[in-house]
Amino acid sequence: MMPTNSARVPVIEVAGLTKRYPGALAVDDVDLSVHAGQIYALLGLNGAGKTTLIRMLLGMIAPTGGSAKVLGAAVTTGQRSAWARTGYLVEAPAAYPELTVRENLHLYARLRRLKHPGRHVEDIIERLALTPYAARRARTLSMGNLQRLALAKALIHTPDLLILDEPVNGLDPVGVVEIRTLLTDLAHQQGTTVLISSHLLAEVARLNGRIAILHQGRLLAEHDATSLDQHRRRHVNISTRDNATADRILRDHGYHPGPGLLLTDERALARPEEVATILVEAGVPPTELRLVKEDLEAYFLRIVGADHA
Ligand code: ATP
Repeated sequence: MMPTNSARVPVIEVAGLTKRYPGALAVDDVDLSVHAGQIYALLGLNGAGKTTLIRMLLGMIAPTGGSAKVLGAAVTTGQRSAWARTGYLVEAPAAYPELTVRENLHLYARLRRLKHPGRHVEDIIERLALTPYAARRARTLSMGNLQRLALAKALIHTPDLLILDEPVNGLDPVGVVEIRTLLTDLAHQQGTTVLISSHLLAEVARLNGRIAILHQGRLLAEHDATSLDQHRRRHVNISTRDNATADRILRDHGYHPGPGLLLTDERALARPEEVATILVEAGVPPTELRLVKEDLEAYFLRIVGADHA
């Protein structure tokens, strides 16, 4: 396991990584770096290139350009030097349907050549809240529990690096919260590095890690919680009983109201109470005046240019 003071040790280093298919540039000249104990989320719409990027990091497909290093070793297809220290979930969760949860995990522990497979199996069953299902055949599991079993497989050998492609797909809200807690505990308490992909900005923002926005194969922006907040647009939302008059008065005072009396002037954002005073003194008091922050999904769609879709 990584020592907890290794916060700046690079675990994933990607430079100019590119994957060109005959009909598509799936990943286009991506640079990124993930350090030990960090939660790093690749955020993008369907087809953004997340899965292709992850598959290249795992050596499952070869890049057409650039390079990637994982846990200190250059990634090449078929080469598995980082395998023992990496856990991953990249396909739809799969398990042997006729075997129980426990039997599936035993099989996996043996494939991983773990010294004390039984101990690892029981430990991961407990950590992923699979105890009530341990004796159930995999084919009888709900989608959420099947996903949990797949995560248990990815985590059974206590990897230093966990790579998950859309890990909360198919989970109900309770399952989503459980996975979030699990990932943040792994990163913060055990120093596990977590790379996940998702199309849900609000969900990855809650992980409080780093977020890379991927679109059409390109990395458009990288954020932490603070910079994400700073990049969200703000506006002042006003309602009055006579919006036409309010619009005129606001213009007379140098504001630039948009449709629906929406103000984005810096002055209004800094001192919304002045707007209220002006309208009250002009006899069109606001019935509502709110400082509104662009929501996360709207920000994401704006950045990828899909806000008019
Ligand atoms: P999704 O969430 O839908 O899986 P994604 O962000 O993971 O999306 P990718 O699956 O990496 O996106 O796909 C990126 C682009 O590359 C898409 O345009 C896709 O059609 C294309 N692509 C992926 N695999 C292949 C392939 N084997 N041959 C040709 N094009 C491909």
